[in-house]
Amino acid sequence: SDANQDAVASPSPSVSVFGSERRWADTTSYNTKKKLQAWFQLANGDWELGKIISTSGNESVITSEGKVLTVKSESLVPANPDILDGVEDLMQLSYLNEPSVLYDLQYRYNQDMIYTKAGPVLVAINPFKKVPLYGNDFIEAYRNKSTENPHVYAIADTAIREMIRDEVNQSIIISGESGAGKTETAKIAMQYLAALGGGSGIEYEILKTNPILEAFGNAKTLRNDNSSRFGKLIEINFSETGKISGARIQTSFGNISLKNASFMLLLICGCGAVLLEKSRVVQCMKGERSYHIFYQLCAGAPSKLRDKLHLKSGNDYKYLKQSDCCSIDGVDDALNFHIVTEALDIVHVSREDQESVFAMLAAVLWLGNVSFTVIDNENHVEPLADECLVTVAELIGCKVEELKLALSTRKMRVGHDTIIQKLTLSQATDTRDALAKSIYACLFEWLVEQINKSLAVGKRRTGRSISILDIYGFESFERNSFEQFCINYANERLQQHFNRHLFKLEQEEYIQDGIDWTKVDFEDNQDCLNLYEKKPLGLLSLLDEESTFPNGTDLTFANKLKQHLQSNSCFRGERGKAFTVSHYAGEVTYDTTAFLEKNRDLLHMDSIQLLSSCSCHLPQIFASNMLAQSEKPVVGPLHKSGRGDSQKLSVATKFKGQLFQLMKRLESTTPHFVRCIKPNNNQSPRSYNQGLVLQQLRCCGVLEVVRISRSGFPTRMTHQKFARRYGFLLLENTISQDPLGVSVAILHQFGILPEMYQVGYTKLFFRTGQIGMLEDTRNRT
Ligand code: ATP
Ligand code: MG
Repeated sequence: SDANQDAVASPSPSVSVFGSERRWADTTSYNTKKKLQAWFQLANGDWELGKIISTSGNESVITSEGKVLTVKSESLVPANPDILDGVEDLMQLSYLNEPSVLYDLQYRYNQDMIYTKAGPVLVAINPFKKVPLYGNDFIEAYRNKSTENPHVYAIADTAIREMIRDEVNQSIIISGESGAGKTETAKIAMQYLAALGGGSGIEYEILKTNPILEAFGNAKTLRNDNSSRFGKLIEINFSETGKISGARIQTSFGNISLKNASFMLLLICGCGAVLLEKSRVVQCMKGERSYHIFYQLCAGAPSKLRDKLHLKSGNDYKYLKQSDCCSIDGVDDALNFHIVTEALDIVHVSREDQESVFAMLAAVLWLGNVSFTVIDNENHVEPLADECLVTVAELIGCKVEELKLALSTRKMRVGHDTIIQKLTLSQATDTRDALAKSIYACLFEWLVEQINKSLAVGKRRTGRSISILDIYGFESFERNSFEQFCINYANERLQQHFNRHLFKLEQEEYIQDGIDWTKVDFEDNQDCLNLYEKKPLGLLSLLDEESTFPNGTDLTFANKLKQHLQSNSCFRGERGKAFTVSHYAGEVTYDTTAFLEKNRDLLHMDSIQLLSSCSCHLPQIFASNMLAQSEKPVVGPLHKSGRGDSQKLSVATKFKGQLFQLMKRLESTTPHFVRCIKPNNNQSPRSYNQGLVLQQLRCCGVLEVVRISRSGFPTRMTHQKFARRYGFLLLENTISQDPLGVSVAILHQFGILPEMYQVGYTKLFFRTGQIGMLEDTRNRT
């Protein structure tokens, strides 16, 4: 119809109706007048498409799927004409409102087109099934640029090109809820980058780190059968082959390759940090599992190893049995054990070291089976000297007596004397579990260190890099604890990075370069970050302060927050031990139960001494890592001379340090953002829950980004660079020698419309999609 033509023919950015009340009303009345299509909302909150038949007063009659309905005109939201169904960039939508965005994503998702651009951001919807979008043919197509469909490959490709063009390090920042597909997406991006290796071997090693990290750092949760319980930044370094090896692998990207590249993993975990969720080793919810590697070991260890480690089946270990869930549908733990050991071979972890790793894992499992008996009428306990205790001692290489003491007593220094305090059942159990957790956390760190060492052997980190960040997204559950408190803090920081990059820096640059730019408001989350970080009266400082008080409890902590932070607009004290924070993605109420304990993360000196003196193959792991997490000498547990005064950092402080380190790295890169979306909560294919998707789109700022990007000029280049890059394409010699003159001549020759660019003092600014044609011509010439 001509009305539809109308809507399509006016894609000028100023028609955007998104976010502006006045324009909303304007277009709705326009739509009702022209009897166009519109969205109306069902009682359950879902949107449905209808055609407006008539309007009288403030009511409209619409038809939808054969039904005739009367609705309030003001509740109608304009819909896009059919020919815009399934556009690959949300920026192309004429009407950019929530139902239209939801519809576009769903339309594509239904046809297995799980990737959609939202301006500069890639949205990826988890298909929960195999989709025919990957592999060499696809990699080749993106490398040749013979396809333009949005894809992670395209993001990786852009990152490489920009790395070379601008000589700036790049990052691919992947975020989303648990189960949204971050880790898979990271692997897909790595696959693309690794394909550059051209068979040199390093790409193979890099990819093999995935099964290892997943075995030791992932677990089945209620939300995701393969949930990462740590955050990671993978840095892949590229070298210029010409310079370093003399070998030239000509790729379509010029002289770069992975051949001499090095590789580095920065893990956002660290010994003692919550964010390798080490509590999972000793405890997890019904229906969840501990780390995959434990089950793999029990199911897949060859008989010689089994005998050596006295291994039983998973169900015989308390730590594994307690959650009533020992297997995952469709997952073969025994087979995966085989894959992991193979991968360990490939990244050069020796067989001997591997065996030590497995011995430590077995020690953790056996430790969980150690039980205690009461020995006096003050409820003091001693571990039962049974098979379990003996096996642990054997595996870690200490005397049974030493282990027994470490699990049932604590040395305390009082003045100049050392007294030995016996432990009660709950103290002893805690000590046992703390030991198990620490062994595991240190093992994990050690493993990462080995991988980093082996993959970077002899390779100086030269050249440029692309980093891929796979980090837990914002979490908001029924009950939120210390882990969520830290995770959401990290997400506030990342969100600020996102905002800064996409909005703030852009605006500032426009203004600086003197171009016409109507200011856009954007959500700034600095207030929330201040709430966390302010000293001395911020969440983190107050938590640390209370953690050092011997008499501090979760309740005194909660009360202190209420006392000092009540005036902060992002904070609200709740009844009892709870408090609420207004995060950018919504309000979250935290229960402070166990906050102090998790933040202190104590491991008693007795345990540390035990481990650093044992004769197992890996005491150096414990020696170096555990002293760092030893207890602060508050009331005086015994210390090893000399090193005992190393003050232990709290978990929150350490986490903040790691986060700042991460942000510093990211800030020196050009970021590329991927937002993963989970279409349903059942991990099932072909199911798209509008409400769930909408909530995630809001949380990660996708809608806001499209609105702003579309009205802005996201591509920019200095006059000099532009003239240098495209000047040779000029058909007629211009008299002008100055870069601006040349640039303007190029713009004219290629007929780039005046509304599509602006000329600033130092740079040219373009709307999306304008440079593409110039690049194409350039590449063909
Ligand atoms: P968490 O935060 O819990 O680690 P995540 O965002 O890393 O979650 P993934 O583990 O990457 O989530 O994805 C969960 C599951 O979804 C995968 O195990 C896989 O079954 C499926 N999945 C994700 N992305 C894809 C994809 N592109 N193609 C096919 N299946 C996918
Ligand atoms: Mg993951």
